Amino acid sequence: MAKKEHKETCSFCGRNSEQVEALIQGNNNIFICNYCVEASKEIFDGGKQQLATNQSFKLPKPSEIKKYLDQYVIEQDYAKKVISVAVYNHYKRINSKNNTNNDDIELEKSNILFIGPTGTGKTLLAKSLAKYLKVPFAITDATTITEAGYVGDDVESILLNLLQNANYDVDLAQRGIIYIDEIDKIGRKSESSSITRDVSGEGVQQALLKILEGTKSGVPPKGGRKHPEQPLIYIDTTNILFICGGAFIGLEKIIAQRMKKSTIGFNANDNTHIEENLELLKHSEPDDLMKFGFIPELIGRLPVIATLGELSDEALLRILTEPKNSIIKQFQKLLKIDNIELEFTEKALKIIVSKAKLRKTGARAIRSIVENIMLDIMYDIPDKVGLTKVIIDDDVIEKGTMPKLIFEDKKKTA
Ligand code: ADP
Repeated sequence: MAKKEHKETCSFCGRNSEQVEALIQGNNNIFICNYCVEASKEIFDGGKQQLATNQSFKLPKPSEIKKYLDQYVIEQDYAKKVISVAVYNHYKRINSKNNTNNDDIELEKSNILFIGPTGTGKTLLAKSLAKYLKVPFAITDATTITEAGYVGDDVESILLNLLQNANYDVDLAQRGIIYIDEIDKIGRKSESSSITRDVSGEGVQQALLKILEGTKSGVPPKGGRKHPEQPLIYIDTTNILFICGGAFIGLEKIIAQRMKKSTIGFNANDNTHIEENLELLKHSEPDDLMKFGFIPELIGRLPVIATLGELSDEALLRILTEPKNSIIKQFQKLLKIDNIELEFTEKALKIIVSKAKLRKTGARAIRSIVENIMLDIMYDIPDKVGLTKVIIDDDVIEKGTMPKLIFEDKKKTA
């Protein structure tokens, strides 16, 4: 490490040794500072996720999995527990297959079904899980899948996506996780609360069933039907963990009808209603899903059901600041690179939450609201010489006033 002499500057960002904590010297008088090292590491980690090789894969215990998920996903304890156990069993099952054991008890694969309103963390849970396990991950939307031969994506394109994320390592891809969003939309005809079975989605369900069960599927490495001459790569889906998710609006009514209980809508504001709906969904049975429009074979392949509840005001407030990569922490980090502190007042955070609630898309709205607020600030900041702190209060969010800016020279506060 170089001594902090004034003339040395980081060759990447131009900061001098007094503006950084450390400067590392390379050949030919090239330097890199601690901020640029950190930023580069993030680019490498995020852009190309480090994947565990078959040999280096270490199976964590359910409690360890949940502890990791707690850092990123607020609340949803029930779903986190269910998924931690399911994933632990899934990889244990794969490992046990490799150990030749003479008993003939075959452990069956247990794919997972997430049921919960939009923006409550279903995708986030699946994504965080894959990141923790360092297995390749692919995400797809069930509504874009078509039966083979129709225009649209067929199921092979999901596998191609996984293969690409595994850097074309077939072995790795075969142990990956695939998240299929909006699975509820292929189960019925329309948004109406009709519970009659929809046969039009059945072809897609059959196609999905094939890969969920475990099949050897030929994947065109360049994708699509544009290159019919390309040789196929065969992927065995037996050990791929499929997580399907959807809001299943109306399912709670079907369950309540069966249990002869009254229900309250999914979007109820009151926290007790949220709890009641979550409780009801925890009791969902294959019959309820069949009434929702799913073929029994597909339900049979999704034996683990994890329910997620609507997020309370308190949870939304925590999501703003608590998770390891919360949106506020991300902006604070961005500004810290320029030695500027970013503060949101408690009142400002509460107003962001109430604005997000109006959009009825769970925590999904939070990011866009904060990004909107930050746009002008991020645009102006590079021009403000000597700026050390930005304080965002309720007026900035409600009335669009300028945030409080504090400069190095304390008298100069705007
Ligand atoms: P969905 O349930 O519709 O799949 P997502 O997981 O995609 O929702 O969440 C949408 C956004 O909201 C993501 O950016 C995620 O960071 C945030 N979010 C949703 N639920 C949670 C949660 N329980 N904890 C932390 N962040 C959440």
